[in-house]
Amino acid sequence: MVRWLQDLLMFFFPVHCLVCGKSLNTPDGVLCLGCEYRMPRTGFRDDPENPVSMIFWGRVPVECATSLFRFEKGSAYQVLLHELKYRGNRKTGVYLGRLLGHELKDTSFAGCELIVPVPLHRKKYRERGYNQSELIGRGLSEILDIPLATSVLVRHRQHDSQTTMGRLDRFENVSGNFGISSRSPDISGMRILLVDDVVTTGATLETCCRVLLDQFHCRIFVATVSCA
Ligand SMILES: [Zn+2]
Repeated sequence: MVRWLQDLLMFFFPVHCLVCGKSLNTPDGVLCLGCEYRMPRTGFRDDPENPVSMIFWGRVPVECATSLFRFEKGSAYQVLLHELKYRGNRKTGVYLGRLLGHELKDTSFAGCELIVPVPLHRKKYRERGYNQSELIGRGLSEILDIPLATSVLVRHRQHDSQTTMGRLDRFENVSGNFGISSRSPDISGMRILLVDDVVTTGATLETCCRVLLDQFHCRIFVATVSCA
């Protein structure tokens, strides 16, 4: 975009840091440099014994799992996921995907051959207008230079809110909700980077892994923006 047009746009539609409210000088800005720097990053990168990888131990074979930052109740950074999921703030998804991509550069994650986002049910997709995991995948794809595939997994049902359920309940609640799309390419033997916005109990991601492993002999890496 030409500079004067960008300045004009910024004059009428100012953009502010989502965390501290400071004005930003680019229309696609999300956080100011200070807030980006102070983000409560996990620093897990591709440490195979990090707490996010350990969620999957004994459940499903995942090469490595990681998250960009910790989701802490009451933290000012909670706003990022809220904006992305409930307020239609799409650029936040791509921005967080890029941050995650920079975090995973020069790690084993960079050797993945395909990025697969956790899908939404088509009804939910229509309501929201986008899939937040796909936006994160887009940012990741840009930085890691790995293609994004949105036609591998499908979601048959959108489960109810999981916040009050235990781990087993959650697994039962999501198993059977996912399948392989009839339009999926053959990804047998490939290294897949499965992407979601948040990991809590890991039930959704576990189910997606099982579906992928049942159909294709692939190796799975998991990356999320946040871990609770
Ligand atoms: Zn800020």
